[in-house]
This record gives sequence, C-alpha cells and structure tokens, in this order.
Amino acid sequence: MAKKFVSFLIFKLVSKYIVTLQNKSYLKCSIPKCGKEYPITSTEFKCVCGNLLDVKYKSNPPTNLKDIFYQRRNPQGSIFNESGVWRFRELLNFCAIETNDLAQCSKHLVSLDGAEGRQSKPYHMSKVSKFIGIENEKLMLQPEGYNPSGSFKDNGMSAAVTHAKMVQAKKIICASTGNTSASAGMFAANENMDCDVYIPEGEIAPGKLSQAYQFGTQLIQVKGNFDDAFTKSLEATSQSNGYTVNSINPFRIEGQKTILYRALEFLNWDTPDWIVYPGGALGNTSSCGKCLMELYQWGWIKKIPRIAVINAEGANTLDVLYNGKFEDTELRWNNGNFDTELIERYYTKMNDDGIRPKTKATAIQIGKPSNLLKGLRALEFTNGIVISVTDKEMLDGMSVVGLNGFDCEMASGAVPAGIKKLLNDNIMKKDDEIVGILTGRQKEPLLPINYHNDPTNQFAKPPKQ
Ligand SMILES: *Cc1c(COP(=O)(O)O)cnc(C)c1O
Ligand SMILES: [Zn+2]
Repeated sequence: MAKKFVSFLIFKLVSKYIVTLQNKSYLKCSIPKCGKEYPITSTEFKCVCGNLLDVKYKSNPPTNLKDIFYQRRNPQGSIFNESGVWRFRELLNFCAIETNDLAQCSKHLVSLDGAEGRQSKPYHMSKVSKFIGIENEKLMLQPEGYNPSGSFKDNGMSAAVTHAKMVQAKKIICASTGNTSASAGMFAANENMDCDVYIPEGEIAPGKLSQAYQFGTQLIQVKGNFDDAFTKSLEATSQSNGYTVNSINPFRIEGQKTILYRALEFLNWDTPDWIVYPGGALGNTSSCGKCLMELYQWGWIKKIPRIAVINAEGANTLDVLYNGKFEDTELRWNNGNFDTELIERYYTKMNDDGIRPKTKATAIQIGKPSNLLKGLRALEFTNGIVISVTDKEMLDGMSVVGLNGFDCEMASGAVPAGIKKLLNDNIMKKDDEIVGILTGRQKEPLLPINYHNDPTNQFAKPPKQ
C-alpha cells in the first residue's frame, strides 16, 4: 500500500515537472517593477504583491498563421476550427498542445460545439452611422451578443474553463451582473462542473438570472451591489478550493483577445483608428490592450489604434480617476508607477459618501473595476480616452442598433452613444475609422418595450390603437 502511494507521488511529481518543462507559457505579475513569475498551473491570480497576473508566452507566433486562421473559417469539420476563439488557438496556447492535433484539442479545449465567437464579425450599420453623423464606410460594429449565451463573455469563459479543466478544478465560482453567470453556467454544465454564482440581491436582470437557473448553477444572493458580491465570491474561492472565473482570471483576458482578432482579420489586419468598448470591470479594455501590445511586439500590426472606453454616468469610476475629476489628478498607469493611494482615497470617499454605482445598464453598474490597473495599462499603450454617457443616451444607442436588425443590450448602447459624443466633441474626426464592440444581446424585454411606448424618445415607435 505504502509502496504504491510512494510511486504514485513520484509519478505526480515527474508528470508535473514534464508539464512545466514543455509548457512555453507562464504567469507574470502585470506590474513591471515586481514582475514575479508563476507556473502556468497556478490558480492564485493575484501576485504576492497584490496585483493581477498576465499570461505570457515564451515565443512569438509566425505571421503565416494569418493564412491558417483564414482557412479555418471554412471549418473542415472541426469544432475547434469553427470556434471564433479556438480558430486562433496558437495565440492563446497556454495548454501547450499540438494545435493541429484535433484529438489533443478536444481533450483540452473547452468549447460549446464551436459556437463561441463563431458568429462574430464587424458590420456597417447605416442607421447607426446616420445617427452618429459619420460616413457609413467609416464605422463598423461587432455584435458579440450572438454568442451561445448571448454576450462576449463566452470568448473569455471558454478559455478560463479550459484552464479550470487543465488544473482539474471541480467547481467554478463567479460574481455576476448577469452575463458572466450565464456564460459560466453554460460552460460548466457542458463540462460537468459545478458552478456557484454570487449575485447582488435584486440587481440582476431577470433574463440573465433565468439563464443561471436554467444551466443549473447554485445562486448565492448577497446583500449589496456587484462589488460586494464579488468580494464574497473571492472569499468563497479561497475557502473552498473553487476556481474563480471573474475577469481577474487572466485566461478570460486571453480568450477575449479573439474579439479583436476577428475584427482585425476582417480588416485584413489593418488597424482602425479607434476601438470602442463600454467599460464595466474593464476586462475588455485590458484584453484589447494586451492583444494590441502583443500584435505590435510581434510585428503583426504597425499602427496602434486608440481605445475609447465608455462609462455610464452613474458608474463612472474610470472616467473620474482618469480624467482628473477627483483631486484634480489624472490617474495614469505611468509605466507601472501608478498612484495607488489616489485610488484608495477615491474608494474610501465612495464608501464614506455612500456613492453607489447606479445605472439601468446593469452590466456596467460597477464601482470598483477589478481590472482597473490593466485597463490603465491598455489606455497608456494606446493613448486611449474615457468618457461617460447617460442612461438616456445608451437607450437611444441601443434602439438605433435595433433598427439595423441587430439586437443589443443597454450597456452595448454606450458604444454608439459614446462615438456620437466623441465626434461632437471633435476628439474623433469625421474620417477616422472606428470599430465598436456591441457586448451583449438584449435580455431585458421591458427596456425596449418601455422605450418604444414613450413617444418622447427619439426612436420610439409606440403601438397603434
Ligand atoms: C460584462 C459586460 C460588460 C462589461 O465589460 P468589462 O469587460 O467588464 O468592462 C459590458 N457589456 C456587457 C453586455 C457585459 O456583459
Ligand atoms: Zn507582483
């Protein structure tokens, strides 16, 4: 018995050593002056210094991959070529698999029958262009709502759950404003994993909550807002050996890079002048920044597009800090030498003054963006900008997208609303090329119904008697 156990131990140790040796990727602290490295199998997503980690790759991918990705758009019968995420698997190969061996792919990669990212590409939407006041040729919008669970979250979640499987996690855990739980629940169910979801009581859109129920997740209601639910979920993760799939998880950031790969591929890898996202926890912003940093470093792109992040006015922490609306100080990444105390003072003020994030766009109703620092890094690399829009502006944006036959949710409406504002303010120019990401599909039926029944709204079409 004891002998068996010893040989089992030796086997475990040796196989772990081999995996570590073969794997050309690792985790590294995102803060340059720390830069501590961790094995790729680590599930601690915060550095000992308290900051978030990045996934790093030891070698640069060859440019002829662009042709391979293109060929994969004609699926050839493999779900990993059909998938809009795994089609680009060489660029997020943290599993260190032989990427052309489909048997290996299916053993390691988590996919919902190739559906994640499969439908997504950028479109011209003439009515949105007209609303914004820009030539139709100049603007493209990429709906991510047509992912299998209805939001961009599936891009990152397929990668995060792949890593969870790699480290043999049995339970994944998240806090959610809705779409994260829908996505986590879907992949967990498909992979036969447990999934616990921490939600702020009464703050989740029923359409999203219903998905979490439907996919068999265990809901845990927390009194408070998203930030409180998030704190609770992290406590539970460290106590129960669970695996967190919130966007502090660096593998989600990896999967979300494919949103931009698909847009750029469609543009023959020519970069637009601007890429526009709504800003919540800033996972997308961070991922876009990392994606561009890598592509630039590999020589795949020559010009760096600027990121524009659109906050909701009622949940505008990034706007406040980045644009110097607190203590007249503009918070910057500053090559990793950011002003932590400024952030702390603002968070303390939020607590003291009872400032709670408040917007009907619940997907971006976040007061303390967990990817704030990576977001700042992205903004610095791309000379990015941040603005806020009102709930009314987001509803108009959402509605005009609908008039083009695409369905998006209110948070995504921040994108057309933000572009309109940036053009009006002359920050974007009429002949700039702009790509906007529409992050999710409509899951709150009452929003469009109420919007259209109020004839004072710009795009309202109330029913006739
Ligand atoms: C999660 C989510 C966001 C916020 O994205 P971050 O990456 O956290 O900034 C925006 N829109 C929708 C529809 C979402 O589900
Ligand atoms: Zn560190």
